[in-house]
Amino acid sequence: MKGRVLIIAGSDSGGGAGIQADLKTVTCLGGYGMTAITALTAQNTQGVSAIHDVPADFIKEQIRVVLSDLGADCIKTGMLSQPATIHAICDVLDELDMDIPMVVDPVIVAKGGASLLAQEAMAALKTRLIPRATMLTPNVPEAEALTGISVMTADDMAKAAEKLFELGPKAVLMKGGHLDETGEQVTDYLFEAGGGSHHFSGKRIQSRHTHGTGCTTASAIACGIAQGLTVVESVQRAKDYVFEAIRTAPGYGSGHGPLNHGH
Ligand code: PLP
Repeated sequence: MKGRVLIIAGSDSGGGAGIQADLKTVTCLGGYGMTAITALTAQNTQGVSAIHDVPADFIKEQIRVVLSDLGADCIKTGMLSQPATIHAICDVLDELDMDIPMVVDPVIVAKGGASLLAQEAMAALKTRLIPRATMLTPNVPEAEALTGISVMTADDMAKAAEKLFELGPKAVLMKGGHLDETGEQVTDYLFEAGGGSHHFSGKRIQSRHTHGTGCTTASAIACGIAQGLTVVESVQRAKDYVFEAIRTAPGYGSGHGPLNHGH
């Protein structure tokens, strides 16, 4: 059941999102996490105060040494920051030619408003990384930024997913957390390239402690795929994990606080 997950993402010094959330999630779900760090953020629950990008060659080297020795059953990408980062990841994966499933979380803007992807990196994300994705996991603002479609209803989500499929991912999980924020339910929609779809509905928890929910969801899905669960099983387990992590959040910090892992 172990399941090796290579996490390619940014560090959150506050421990709530990014690499830290990814590793906690994969560990708590019984997988084995490895990392290629793309950027360091100086960050707490109030926001991101500084970003230090890791040089592209060093990102490549982290991926190359890990995959050529330990290997991976699934790759998860998060914060990518710069176009050179995306090109470096795709170049080294092409070079290694290993055909590993990949969950791409299209991180664009943090909840506190900080940009985590340079505007000029959008083209590389769409033309180089998203086409390789086994699953793309946008929230509503990310789906809007990627497609230009205004997403206010489930029908809009389906339209945005159609447009995202033109880029080539095998599945798109549209996360509904930003819709109907005062409602009782949250529904995520999974669309598969062949036309299949599933929805996952659950109770909404009203909480300001939701920092890192996107990273946690994508890592949990990547861990499930690495462990041989189906895509639907991986998404359902991820949803259950995040629900419990928000419900039992420790309440640290004065802003958007972290989740509780290991519940
Ligand atoms: N910081 C890093 C390094 C991240 O990768 C992410 C993830 O998306 C965030 C911050 C943003 O997290 P959130 O939008 O949940 O606050």
